[in-house]
Amino acid sequence: MVVILHADIEEDSPELYETMAVLSALPGVHLMKHVVEGEVRTLTELYLLGDTSRLDATEIEALPGVDRAIRISESYRILGRHDDSPRAVGFTYNGVRFGQDNLNIFAGLCAVDNREHVAATMAALRENGLDCTRMGAYKPRTNPYSFQGHGASCLPYVFDLAGRYDIRVIAMEITHESQIGEIDSALEASGAPTGVMLQIGTRNTQNFELLKAVGRQSNYPVLFKRGFGITLGESLNAAEYLASEGNARVVFCLRGIKSATAAPHRNLVDFGHIPVVKRLTRMPVCVDPSHSVGVRSTGPDGIEDILHATAQGIIAGANMVLIDFHPNPATALVDGPQALRLNELAHFVEDVRLVREAYERRTALAKHYKDQRQDPPWVSLKI
Ligand code: PEP
Ligand code: MN
Repeated sequence: MVVILHADIEEDSPELYETMAVLSALPGVHLMKHVVEGEVRTLTELYLLGDTSRLDATEIEALPGVDRAIRISESYRILGRHDDSPRAVGFTYNGVRFGQDNLNIFAGLCAVDNREHVAATMAALRENGLDCTRMGAYKPRTNPYSFQGHGASCLPYVFDLAGRYDIRVIAMEITHESQIGEIDSALEASGAPTGVMLQIGTRNTQNFELLKAVGRQSNYPVLFKRGFGITLGESLNAAEYLASEGNARVVFCLRGIKSATAAPHRNLVDFGHIPVVKRLTRMPVCVDPSHSVGVRSTGPDGIEDILHATAQGIIAGANMVLIDFHPNPATALVDGPQALRLNELAHFVEDVRLVREAYERRTALAKHYKDQRQDPPWVSLKI
């Protein structure tokens, strides 16, 4: 059961103290406090875990400071929607809003190779009005002899240049919890000119100890990739590890599924799951067309497969696009074959805007017809 307290209740208020005392004395029930920092107000939620079947929601709602008590299912307790209970969706980080109703583009280098390429990429982003990027410093490679990323050594110039080009958020994968401290130190040393979204890669989707460590910190939000060989439900449960440890600022990323049938693409595009993730959870949904498609090829219509996949995600309501660009893909140290060139960025951005506009018109159309028919609310599909 989740107990939502009145907005902006003080940490040390007598109401909170009394309610906590009553709830923590319940036999067989473990109490967890979770503070959600919103744009305009702070919400405190209390999670009652364990045997809550005998608890009466009305009695709990009568306790001081309590706004609502909601019964929640076993799965996705914190990140889930739970029959559309009106809880906050998304979050704001370093001035950028991440929700289920807007769209952010994170274009950039799969792996940082040198300062010049970082500068050229960020300059192109700025020229095209983008303020978020991806910059891989720690790379989880299939082959131990492949380039593993520059690690902490590239962070000073990446953060310095981000400040210079006014980049607000950098998606950056980490493969071990010790890298959080390296990012902290480098950000602090450069005067924190930008923000970082910690990325959990598909190879670490079920690395539960890493997830717990990332969940325990509250400095950085998380971009969580679905596992490439497990069910969607298993990936959503893994994302819940982050929230269960305290960090619910999570964006869920679809990046394709490993399948022999995907060839000649790298992975089978799975963007049909966007509405499922939105219906089951309150996480914004990202798509990664680069790691899904994995190759640069253009159809007879003159549009690259990666742009088509991006459009498939956006037309289905994606809230973020993570995409590889490189000033010179032929020399990229990781994933050059799937990187778009910087001189394609303007086309890409315009294409994204066009498809997003079509999506917004689709939602308006759906609302128009639904109002006429007076349908019941959406039905949640249990997985
Ligand atoms: C990446 O985004 O650089 C990456 C390695 O992606 P994934 O974990 O989806 O393979
Ligand atoms: Mn990559």
